[in-house]
Amino acid sequence: MIILSKYKLIPDKVNGNKRRVKSEEKSICPICLSEALKVIGSRNRSAINSKGENLIIVIRRLKCRFCKKIHHELPDILVPYKRYLSKCIEAILDGQGDRISCENSSIYRLNQWFKGIGIHIKRSLASTATRMNVKIKSGGEPILKAIKAYVGEAPGWLARVVRIVINTNNWVHTRYAFMA
Ligand SMILES: [Zn+2]
Repeated sequence: MIILSKYKLIPDKVNGNKRRVKSEEKSICPICLSEALKVIGSRNRSAINSKGENLIIVIRRLKCRFCKKIHHELPDILVPYKRYLSKCIEAILDGQGDRISCENSSIYRLNQWFKGIGIHIKRSLASTATRMNVKIKSGGEPILKAIKAYVGEAPGWLARVVRIVINTNNWVHTRYAFMA
């Protein structure tokens, strides 16, 4: 998987809720860092916005010519394996879930998910910062504050986190892994 931060969402002429992703950056294979990626198709990804409306995002499937791995190219409005848009999840994690048209059970689940993955995210950000020789002072608790020390508090922090962790191949799919 690859997360894009520079792209355009082109509305579909027939379906008003459908958007095609037009990348404006050069994607790099997160496994072998090769730039030789070939588009081999696309697929529809559904997403829910803050009003509870369903959107369809058409994302590209890329194949690395070098390591042969297949990657989906996600715009940073999405979080891998999550149905809500990144900014909705961000609002929920910031304790502003009342602004989102969302079931309480979804709010609970997303908070649980983040509780499970938080330490892993913080460690991934810390190791990326070390590799890039960036010194950041980040405390241990609360985990959300520690994570924001790496990516800043400004809106879009979750999108920045996801981009770094995915594009360095550090994401883990936690549907079951961290659930008690
Ligand atoms: Zn590769």
